[in-house]
Amino acid sequence: MGSIIDGRVAASAIKEEIKTFVEKAKLEKGRIPCLATVLVGNDGGSIYYVNNQKKLCDELGVENRHVILDETIAEEELLEVVHSLNNDETVDGVIIQLPLPKHIDEKKITSSLNYKKDVDGLTDINLGKFYKGEDCFVPCTPQSILHLIKTTGVKLQGKHAVVVGRSNIVGKPAAQLLLNENCTVTICHSKTEELKKVCSSADILICALGKPEFITEEYIKEAAVVIDVGTSRLNGKMKGDVLFEEAIKKASFITPVPGGVGAVTTVMLIKNTCEAMKKNVY
Ligand code: NAP
Repeated sequence: MGSIIDGRVAASAIKEEIKTFVEKAKLEKGRIPCLATVLVGNDGGSIYYVNNQKKLCDELGVENRHVILDETIAEEELLEVVHSLNNDETVDGVIIQLPLPKHIDEKKITSSLNYKKDVDGLTDINLGKFYKGEDCFVPCTPQSILHLIKTTGVKLQGKHAVVVGRSNIVGKPAAQLLLNENCTVTICHSKTEELKKVCSSADILICALGKPEFITEEYIKEAAVVIDVGTSRLNGKMKGDVLFEEAIKKASFITPVPGGVGAVTTVMLIKNTCEAMKKNVY
């Protein structure tokens, strides 16, 4: 029977670091870090994340400025909003909640963000720096995945890591972070043949498909570390991509849903906001 990697416990150590930083910022800079959250329209998932950000920022003593915009806002107007946040010296980090309404070009909006305030690492500049191995903001979910794996103390070098999912926000950057740790990495997707066979050869298995309870015990190698990124609603309950009750019997370590990756992701966003305050001139 595997051990549960508790995301809330892993998050608490980072929260303490943030609180220390905030106290220091008050003394040295005379202000607290500020994360601006841009929400356009009323996407249910986004509202959930935005409320979570607010709660956590309040707990940690970080300012969370909400910029709530009507769904019908014109692209030009939204560009203006991002531009003014870029130039606002009291704002350290900005997150633009995705998805944006269909009439708005998401890429154009995210690209318009100053990469120094792009605390979720989504601008072309940060992504380019990330894949080149330069100092930058790394997307928060993959950062949380790596953090949770490291809390197990399992040696990463030379291990076979399999990432199921190749999105720009989770799968690809998670694979890159594991490659940076000298893992041998395989990325799987919806066209992968013999997925079960590939997954069951993984020492570290990252599941980011968005298909509730898809990964059953046959996909898991004995004593593998299993990280479940999925968050889907099934019969009114939050479910991961892994069938937890089966997987825990074979895994050495496994993250639950909820209380796993998701519990660390927003904390990482706030940690990156503190980093932005540290790095930026004001
Ligand atoms: P996404 O953009 O929909 O990507 C899903 C990926 O899974 C795609 O690459 C897709 O392959 C692959 N896939 C889908 N069905 C598959 C199958 N049957 N076999 C193999 N691969 C398959 O999703 P995402 O944004 O990466 O998010 C993934 C999950 O993580 C979602 O449940 C999301 O809600 C969750 N999430 C959680 C957090 C957190 O903090 N906990 C943060 C972000 C996302 P193709 O590329 O071939 O289509």
